[in-house]
Amino acid sequence: MGIPQTGPAVRDSRRHTPKESTRLIPLKTSNPKYQEIRALFLKGWKHPEKDRPIIQGIYLIVYPSERLEPYRKYRSHVERLNLRSGFDKGSNEQLLFHGTTRLCALGDSNRSIVPCSLSTCSLCCIISKLYDVRKCGSKHKFRRFGTGLYTTSCSSKADDYFHAGGKDSKYRTLLVNRVVVGKPCIRRYNATNLTEPPPGHQSIIGVPGADLNYEETVVYDNNAIHPAFMIAYTNTSEPPLQSKAATLLSTLFKTPVAS
Ligand SMILES: [Zn+2]
Repeated sequence: MGIPQTGPAVRDSRRHTPKESTRLIPLKTSNPKYQEIRALFLKGWKHPEKDRPIIQGIYLIVYPSERLEPYRKYRSHVERLNLRSGFDKGSNEQLLFHGTTRLCALGDSNRSIVPCSLSTCSLCCIISKLYDVRKCGSKHKFRRFGTGLYTTSCSSKADDYFHAGGKDSKYRTLLVNRVVVGKPCIRRYNATNLTEPPPGHQSIIGVPGADLNYEETVVYDNNAIHPAFMIAYTNTSEPPLQSKAATLLSTLFKTPVAS
Protein backbone atom coordinates (compact mmCIF):
# COMPACT_ATOMS: atom_id res chain seq x y z
CA MET A 1 0.00 0.00 0.00
CA GLY A 2 2.62 2.50 1.12
CA ILE A 3 5.20 1.56 -1.48
CA PRO A 4 5.48 4.18 -4.23
CA GLN A 5 4.53 2.74 -7.62
CA THR A 6 5.94 5.54 -9.74
CA GLY A 7 8.60 3.41 -11.46
CA PRO A 8 6.37 0.79 -13.10
CA ALA A 9 3.57 3.32 -13.68
CA VAL A 10 5.93 5.55 -15.66
CA ARG A 11 7.12 2.62 -17.73
CA ASP A 12 3.50 1.58 -18.42
CA SER A 13 2.50 5.03 -19.59
CA ARG A 14 5.52 5.18 -21.89
CA ARG A 15 4.35 1.98 -23.48
CA HIS A 16 1.31 3.83 -24.81
CA THR A 17 2.85 7.07 -26.02
CA PRO A 18 2.04 8.23 -29.57
CA LYS A 19 5.59 7.23 -30.50
CA GLU A 20 4.28 3.69 -30.70
CA SER A 21 1.43 4.43 -33.04
CA THR A 22 1.58 3.31 -36.68
CA ARG A 23 3.76 5.65 -38.71
CA LEU A 24 6.34 5.82 -41.47
CA ILE A 25 10.07 6.28 -40.96
CA PRO A 26 12.07 7.48 -43.98
CA LEU A 27 15.03 5.24 -44.80
CA LYS A 28 18.33 6.82 -45.71
CA THR A 29 19.64 5.89 -49.15
CA SER A 30 22.69 4.36 -47.45
CA ASN A 31 20.46 1.97 -45.45
CA PRO A 32 20.88 -1.64 -46.73
CA LYS A 33 17.06 -2.08 -46.58
CA TYR A 34 16.63 0.98 -48.82
CA GLN A 35 19.05 -0.56 -51.29
CA GLU A 36 17.25 -3.92 -51.15
CA ILE A 37 13.79 -2.40 -51.77
CA ARG A 38 15.17 -0.13 -54.50
CA ALA A 39 16.71 -3.12 -56.30
CA LEU A 40 13.45 -5.14 -56.06
CA PHE A 41 11.41 -2.19 -57.31
CA LEU A 42 13.64 -1.50 -60.32
CA LYS A 43 14.09 -5.18 -61.17
CA GLY A 44 10.32 -5.66 -61.02
CA TRP A 45 9.61 -2.75 -63.39
CA LYS A 46 8.96 -4.84 -66.49
CA HIS A 47 6.33 -3.15 -68.64
CA PRO A 48 8.24 -2.02 -71.74
CA GLU A 49 5.73 0.76 -72.46
CA LYS A 50 6.22 2.39 -69.05
CA ASP A 51 9.04 4.85 -68.44
CA ARG A 52 11.54 3.96 -65.76
CA PRO A 53 10.35 5.45 -62.45
CA ILE A 54 12.35 7.74 -60.17
CA ILE A 55 12.31 6.82 -56.49
CA GLN A 56 11.51 9.78 -54.21
CA GLY A 57 11.54 8.00 -50.88
CA ILE A 58 11.35 4.61 -49.20
CA TYR A 59 9.68 4.35 -45.81
CA LEU A 60 9.68 1.70 -43.14
CA ILE A 61 6.18 1.24 -41.67
CA VAL A 62 6.37 0.82 -37.91
CA TYR A 63 3.60 -0.66 -35.81
CA PRO A 64 2.98 -1.15 -32.12
CA SER A 65 4.68 -4.50 -31.59
CA GLU A 66 1.50 -6.42 -30.72
CA ARG A 67 -0.11 -5.52 -34.08
CA LEU A 68 2.25 -7.87 -35.89
CA GLU A 69 1.89 -10.79 -33.49
CA PRO A 70 -0.79 -12.61 -35.58
CA TYR A 71 1.52 -12.36 -38.63
CA ARG A 72 4.50 -13.74 -36.68
CA LYS A 73 2.41 -16.60 -35.31
CA TYR A 74 1.07 -17.48 -38.75
CA ARG A 75 4.61 -17.37 -40.22
CA SER A 76 5.96 -19.70 -37.52
CA HIS A 77 3.01 -22.07 -38.02
CA VAL A 78 3.61 -22.27 -41.79
CA GLU A 79 7.37 -22.61 -41.25
CA ARG A 80 6.92 -25.64 -38.97
CA LEU A 81 4.22 -27.21 -41.12
CA ASN A 82 6.20 -26.99 -44.35
CA LEU A 83 9.53 -28.08 -42.90
CA ARG A 84 7.79 -31.12 -41.40
CA SER A 85 6.35 -32.02 -44.80
CA GLY A 86 9.73 -31.64 -46.51
CA PHE A 87 9.23 -28.22 -48.15
CA ASP A 88 12.60 -26.70 -47.31
CA LYS A 89 11.66 -23.06 -47.98
CA GLY A 90 9.47 -23.18 -44.84
CA SER A 91 7.42 -19.98 -44.52
CA ASN A 92 8.93 -18.74 -47.82
CA GLU A 93 8.54 -15.10 -46.76
CA GLN A 94 8.86 -12.67 -49.66
CA LEU A 95 8.69 -8.92 -50.23
CA LEU A 96 5.94 -8.23 -52.79
CA PHE A 97 4.23 -5.10 -54.16
CA HIS A 98 0.64 -3.94 -53.88
CA GLY A 99 -0.79 -0.84 -55.54
CA THR A 100 -3.96 0.87 -54.36
CA THR A 101 -5.78 4.21 -54.11
CA ARG A 102 -4.20 7.07 -52.18
CA LEU A 103 -6.29 10.13 -51.40
CA CYS A 104 -3.77 11.94 -49.22
CA ALA A 105 -0.14 13.01 -49.44
CA LEU A 106 1.35 10.27 -47.26
CA GLY A 107 5.05 9.98 -48.12
CA ASP A 108 5.19 13.17 -50.16
CA SER A 109 7.77 14.48 -47.72
CA ASN A 110 9.54 13.35 -44.58
CA ARG A 111 6.85 15.22 -42.62
CA SER A 112 3.91 13.30 -44.16
CA ILE A 113 4.43 10.14 -42.17
CA VAL A 114 1.13 9.49 -40.38
CA PRO A 115 -1.68 7.68 -42.24
CA CYS A 116 -4.79 9.80 -42.83
CA SER A 117 -8.18 8.88 -41.39
CA LEU A 118 -10.18 8.93 -44.63
CA SER A 119 -12.16 5.70 -44.94
CA THR A 120 -11.84 5.96 -48.72
CA CYS A 121 -8.03 6.23 -48.72
CA SER A 122 -7.24 2.56 -49.30
CA LEU A 123 -3.52 3.06 -48.76
CA CYS A 124 -3.96 4.45 -45.25
CA CYS A 125 -6.73 1.94 -44.41
CA ILE A 126 -4.37 -0.92 -45.24
CA ILE A 127 -1.51 0.62 -43.25
CA SER A 128 -3.71 1.42 -40.26
CA LYS A 129 -5.91 -1.68 -40.18
CA LEU A 130 -3.78 -4.17 -42.14
CA TYR A 131 -5.20 -6.25 -45.00
CA ASP A 132 -8.74 -7.57 -44.93
CA VAL A 133 -9.67 -10.30 -47.38
CA ARG A 134 -13.37 -9.33 -47.06
CA LYS A 135 -12.55 -6.14 -48.98
CA CYS A 136 -11.18 -8.13 -51.92
CA GLY A 137 -12.96 -7.12 -55.12
CA SER A 138 -14.56 -4.01 -53.68
CA LYS A 139 -12.67 -1.95 -56.29
CA HIS A 140 -11.75 -4.47 -58.95
CA LYS A 141 -14.58 -6.82 -59.83
CA PHE A 142 -12.42 -9.30 -61.72
CA ARG A 143 -10.64 -11.65 -59.32
CA ARG A 144 -8.38 -13.91 -61.28
CA PHE A 145 -7.71 -16.29 -58.41
CA GLY A 146 -10.82 -15.63 -56.36
CA THR A 147 -11.26 -13.92 -53.03
CA GLY A 148 -7.75 -13.27 -51.79
CA LEU A 149 -5.07 -10.68 -51.16
CA TYR A 150 -3.15 -9.88 -54.32
CA THR A 151 0.53 -8.94 -54.57
CA THR A 152 3.21 -9.20 -57.21
CA SER A 153 6.97 -9.09 -57.67
CA CYS A 154 6.28 -6.97 -60.78
CA SER A 155 6.31 -3.38 -59.50
CA SER A 156 5.10 -1.99 -62.85
CA LYS A 157 2.05 -4.27 -62.62
CA ALA A 158 1.28 -3.10 -59.05
CA ASP A 159 1.63 0.43 -60.44
CA ASP A 160 -1.42 -0.26 -62.67
CA TYR A 161 -3.51 -0.42 -59.49
CA PHE A 162 -2.25 2.84 -58.01
CA HIS A 163 -4.82 5.59 -58.25
CA ALA A 164 -4.22 9.14 -57.08
CA GLY A 165 -7.36 10.69 -55.69
CA GLY A 166 -5.75 13.62 -53.90
CA LYS A 167 -5.38 16.56 -56.23
CA ASP A 168 -2.33 17.87 -54.35
CA SER A 169 -0.49 14.56 -54.40
CA LYS A 170 2.85 14.71 -56.15
CA TYR A 171 3.95 11.10 -56.03
CA ARG A 172 2.77 7.62 -56.82
CA THR A 173 3.07 5.03 -54.05
CA LEU A 174 3.27 1.27 -53.66
CA LEU A 175 3.21 -0.86 -50.55
CA VAL A 176 6.00 -3.38 -50.16
CA ASN A 177 4.60 -6.27 -48.13
CA ARG A 178 6.02 -9.13 -46.17
CA VAL A 179 4.09 -12.12 -47.49
CA VAL A 180 4.14 -15.67 -46.14
CA VAL A 181 3.98 -17.35 -49.55
CA GLY A 182 4.61 -20.77 -47.99
CA LYS A 183 4.21 -23.62 -50.44
CA PRO A 184 2.60 -22.05 -53.51
CA CYS A 185 0.33 -23.68 -56.06
CA ILE A 186 1.57 -22.53 -59.47
CA ARG A 187 -1.17 -21.72 -62.00
CA ARG A 188 -1.22 -20.50 -65.59
CA TYR A 189 -4.98 -20.33 -65.91
CA ASN A 190 -7.60 -18.29 -64.06
CA ALA A 191 -9.56 -19.80 -61.17
CA THR A 192 -11.97 -17.07 -60.17
CA ASN A 193 -13.98 -19.04 -57.62
CA LEU A 194 -11.17 -19.77 -55.17
CA THR A 195 -11.59 -18.72 -51.54
CA GLU A 196 -8.57 -20.63 -50.23
CA PRO A 197 -5.47 -22.26 -51.68
CA PRO A 198 -5.63 -25.92 -52.72
CA PRO A 199 -4.93 -28.42 -49.89
CA GLY A 200 -1.24 -28.60 -48.94
CA HIS A 201 -0.55 -25.06 -50.19
CA GLN A 202 -0.64 -21.61 -48.63
CA SER A 203 -0.82 -19.44 -51.74
CA ILE A 204 -1.39 -19.30 -55.49
CA ILE A 205 1.28 -17.95 -57.80
CA GLY A 206 -0.05 -17.07 -61.22
CA VAL A 207 2.68 -17.23 -63.82
CA PRO A 208 2.79 -15.75 -67.33
CA GLY A 209 2.25 -17.93 -70.37
CA ALA A 210 -1.50 -18.43 -70.73
CA ASP A 211 -3.95 -16.10 -68.91
CA LEU A 212 -1.35 -13.78 -67.34
CA ASN A 213 1.28 -11.45 -68.73
CA TYR A 214 2.97 -10.83 -65.39
CA GLU A 215 3.34 -12.78 -62.15
CA GLU A 216 0.94 -12.40 -59.22
CA THR A 217 0.86 -14.00 -55.79
CA VAL A 218 -2.37 -14.47 -53.83
CA VAL A 219 -2.80 -15.38 -50.17
CA TYR A 220 -6.17 -16.03 -48.54
CA ASP A 221 -5.43 -15.39 -44.86
CA ASN A 222 -5.28 -11.86 -43.41
CA ASN A 223 -2.40 -12.95 -41.19
CA ALA A 224 -0.27 -14.06 -44.16
CA ILE A 225 0.60 -10.50 -45.17
CA HIS A 226 1.43 -7.12 -43.75
CA PRO A 227 2.62 -3.88 -45.35
CA ALA A 228 6.23 -3.40 -44.25
CA PHE A 229 7.51 -0.56 -46.46
CA MET A 230 6.09 2.15 -48.68
CA ILE A 231 7.83 3.47 -51.75
CA ALA A 232 7.09 6.91 -53.24
CA TYR A 233 8.11 7.54 -56.83
CA THR A 234 7.41 9.55 -59.94
CA ASN A 235 7.16 8.55 -63.56
CA THR A 236 9.80 10.21 -65.68
CA SER A 237 7.10 11.10 -68.20
CA GLU A 238 5.06 12.89 -65.54
CA PRO A 239 7.14 15.41 -63.60
CA PRO A 240 5.82 16.08 -60.09
CA LEU A 241 3.54 19.09 -59.68
CA GLN A 242 6.25 20.88 -57.73
CA SER A 243 8.62 20.55 -60.69
CA LYS A 244 5.92 21.79 -63.07
CA ALA A 245 5.36 24.80 -60.83
CA ALA A 246 9.10 25.38 -60.52
CA THR A 247 9.45 25.16 -64.30
CA LEU A 248 6.63 27.66 -64.76
CA LEU A 249 8.17 30.04 -62.23
CA SER A 250 11.60 29.78 -63.74
CA THR A 251 10.08 30.41 -67.20
CA LEU A 252 8.25 33.45 -65.89
CA PHE A 253 11.36 34.86 -64.27
CA LYS A 254 13.65 34.06 -67.15
CA THR A 255 12.69 37.35 -68.76
CA PRO A 256 15.86 39.31 -69.47
CA VAL A 257 15.95 41.25 -66.22
CA ALA A 258 19.69 41.72 -65.88
CA SER A 259 20.77 42.01 -69.48
ZN1 LIG B 1 -4.35 8.45 -46.74
